[in-house]
Amino acid sequence: MLAMASTHPGRLRRAFLLAMGLFAGLSGPATFAKEKRRESLQIYFVDVEGGQATLFVSPSGQSMLVDTGWPGFDGRDAKRIVAVARTAGVKKIDYVVVTHYHTDHVGGVPALAKRIKIGTFVDHGPNREDSDVTRKDFAAYQNVVVHAKRMVVKPGDIIPVEGITVNLLTAAGEHVSTRVAGTEAENGLCASEPEPPEDATENARSLGILVTYGIFRLLDLGDLTKKKELDLACPKNLIGTVDLLVVSHHGSNQSSTQALVHAVHARVAVMDNGARKGGSPEVWQTVHDSPGLEDLWQLHTSVEGGAEHNPPEAYIANPGEGAEDHGYGINVVANWDGTFTVVNTRNGKEKTYQK
Ligand SMILES: [Zn+2]
Repeated sequence: MLAMASTHPGRLRRAFLLAMGLFAGLSGPATFAKEKRRESLQIYFVDVEGGQATLFVSPSGQSMLVDTGWPGFDGRDAKRIVAVARTAGVKKIDYVVVTHYHTDHVGGVPALAKRIKIGTFVDHGPNREDSDVTRKDFAAYQNVVVHAKRMVVKPGDIIPVEGITVNLLTAAGEHVSTRVAGTEAENGLCASEPEPPEDATENARSLGILVTYGIFRLLDLGDLTKKKELDLACPKNLIGTVDLLVVSHHGSNQSSTQALVHAVHARVAVMDNGARKGGSPEVWQTVHDSPGLEDLWQLHTSVEGGAEHNPPEAYIANPGEGAEDHGYGINVVANWDGTFTVVNTRNGKEKTYQK
């Protein structure tokens, strides 16, 4: 008791939250203290085993979830998202953004809608992929959305999350035609970029968003593939630079052209790969070599990446596979002045990046 009384309350809270994170596997430490919530943007990369589910909680208290992970596994991904939402103090997700209609992004919608209140679904409109599996996933999504509010968006639109700015850069295969930021100069990386193949899948129709809070900027292009990336990066980079890059497509080598990745000049990248999904050595190298990059954090060790193409284990939320995979996440607290802190909920490792 004496020891506790003499301990700084903040330290106690930190120890408590850290312990919660370690036991629940999903929450984060001190930086998520209540007082901080009011003045920072929180971002939670939920582990959905190689799919995407990223929860943004604005300082206003409004929330936006980008994608919902997979269906099945007894609602595993929906349960993980709801657990993280609870940790963040979110009782209702104001916007659920569905980047595209592939299973690892839209599949969790029915299970999620049963477990938490959802304000508005945001998507790019009808499915345009000619495949049975995607038609089936889109139909399951429609069955939920028909009873909910829905917003179909196009490039140039804004998702009106109070307290942050969410710009739509791409949707349904289209892209913004004018510069959101950056310079008038041509992107010198375009000339050496190989011509990418056409992509007739839903990946190429991904919603791509730029999230801004103060001078902090985050880019998340869903599973956008190379040809569409180049629409944003060449001949001029329409995006400008960002602080945090969500590595597209879980690190699959169908995405992440050097012309885009290096041009956006991210300080930190987060890859939502699975142990055996995404995490390609080629993409890892492109991101790793990006000018100005300080660190790459990953949800999983990439088996394909081996010793050469993974970050140090401290930067990986889930180094093991199967029974060794406990579904830990990566959390970010971003401030108005552009500084941000990244936290690995497995080991409590946190690092602050100054502007
Ligand atoms: Zn995906």
